[in-house]
Amino acid sequence: MTDEFNTDIYYDDDADGSQLENATVAVLGYGSQGHAHALNLNDSGVDVIVGLREDSSSRDAAEADGLDVTTPVEAASQADIVSVLVPDTVQPAVYADIEPELEEGNTLQFAHGFNIHYNQIQPPEGIDVTMIAPKSPGHLVRRNYENDEGTPGLLAVYQDETGDAKERALAYAKGIGCTRAGVVETSFREETETDIFGEQAVLCGGIAELIKTGYETLVDAGYSPEMAYFECMNEMKLIVDLMYEGGLGAMWDSVSDTAEYGGLTRGDDVIDDHVRENMEEVLDQVQNGEFATEWISENQANRPVYTQLNQAEKDHEIEEVGERLRELFTWADEATEDEEESAK
Ligand code: NAD
Ligand code: MG
Ligand code: MG
Ligand code: MG
Ligand code: MG
Repeated sequence: MTDEFNTDIYYDDDADGSQLENATVAVLGYGSQGHAHALNLNDSGVDVIVGLREDSSSRDAAEADGLDVTTPVEAASQADIVSVLVPDTVQPAVYADIEPELEEGNTLQFAHGFNIHYNQIQPPEGIDVTMIAPKSPGHLVRRNYENDEGTPGLLAVYQDETGDAKERALAYAKGIGCTRAGVVETSFREETETDIFGEQAVLCGGIAELIKTGYETLVDAGYSPEMAYFECMNEMKLIVDLMYEGGLGAMWDSVSDTAEYGGLTRGDDVIDDHVRENMEEVLDQVQNGEFATEWISENQANRPVYTQLNQAEKDHEIEEVGERLRELFTWADEATEDEEESAK
């Protein structure tokens, strides 16, 4: 561990909202993060303009929410802080359009470090480059703010030309409600590499393969797909909820002693040293840029591998079994209503 990975945590009292008093913030994109940042900043009294393409389907939503909407180029030209919240894969193209609008002393603000860390966006000298990355999907960033609560976030400074980069980023974090919950200082490198490793090895890739492999093991041994679905997929949420509320301890306390003993003795037989070596290899590819290079060329080639794997995942038997079972059970109705509510 180097000093780069030391962490400080900032709260409301550490942030000076007046840093944004005379500033205009351009929010580029009105998706998951974009709508939440724009609305929260606006409600915090910050001058916000949303930048969207002329033909963007998000224009109506942003206007209906009472925000000023213009093109990304026009928004960037009016702004002191440009918050880049279009998808990571389209950021380099949008950045190329707005770069001529960046003036000395402006801030380029991100919610994820991919394009800066892997040099897909190379900002000029004279502007600050910062990150405030809420550690949650945008709809929660918005909902928490409306409930007078906060969403934890990360702060990083890549380029500080004004001497105020960190103070302005903290004011931005306050404006979207993150300092209510706590903002952890990190670097573009650490945020990018840990985010990508986490989603590949544990959160998205790891968990999906764990579920499918467990399901297939049971079904191949002759058990019914319905039982396999309940054991390997449906119960996952209940277990993760316990961990979210009280860590591994709350989970082990809540399951039976049989589950605890079996889990503690057999878990590491499943996720063994071989899996650890695989994770280290995945991390290597994140650190040495191999994954980033692959994903950038995949996008340039119109996503052939992505398209095929996305379809194969939809075609997996567990998806068909799950869809059928979720329709039969009332608990799924409640979950769906919650999701619909949160998608608003
Ligand atoms: P998104 O896909 O939800 O929304 C992107 C928006 O950008 C669209 O709604 C549209 O308004 C606009 N857009 C799409 N294509 C465009 C194009 N070609 N040109 C111009 N505008 C276009 O994106 P998101 O998930 O909010 O991600 C934005 C940033 O936030 C990314 O850097 C992402 O890594 C980061 N982030 C996302 C989450 C999350 O949970 N979604 C969490 C933390 C950080
Ligand atoms: Mg990510
Ligand atoms: Mg059980
Ligand atoms: Mg063991
Ligand atoms: Mg592979």
